[in-house]
Amino acid sequence: MDCIFCKIIKKEVPADIVYEDEKIIAFKDIKPMAPVHILIIPKKHIPAITDIKEEDVELMGRLIFVAKKIADDLTISKQGYKLLFRVKEHGGQEVNHIHLHLIGGAPLFEDIHPI
Ligand code: 5GP
Ligand code: ZN
Repeated sequence: MDCIFCKIIKKEVPADIVYEDEKIIAFKDIKPMAPVHILIIPKKHIPAITDIKEEDVELMGRLIFVAKKIADDLTISKQGYKLLFRVKEHGGQEVNHIHLHLIGGAPLFEDIHPI
């Protein structure tokens, strides 16, 4: 499959991996938006949040738990951080394999504004 994140999972494309288990892998974003910018992804290829099924609920919960654990390990939990899913075109999603952005290590400005 021609998916860059699936290639990272298979170690066909290098990445700075910070966490891995049977179902989830996390690595540093290649174009960081903050001092800490990590992508947490399921090893199962699910294109977007719109494709989640009931059977994926536990996996998605675990994705958030892994983000929390990584934030703890990086000692950014006290000051806080952002967790972000972009969803398809209007959400600005560019890679069609679900990924949770963990962004922190500095105060972050809002990227959306009141209309
Ligand atoms: P999206 O806009 O889809 O939510 O975010 C995709 C993210 O993946 C972007 O922040 C981008 O920098 C990151 N990214 C795209 N290709 C690669 C890659 O090959 N390696 C890594 N580590 N990050 C990537
Ligand atoms: Zn994929």
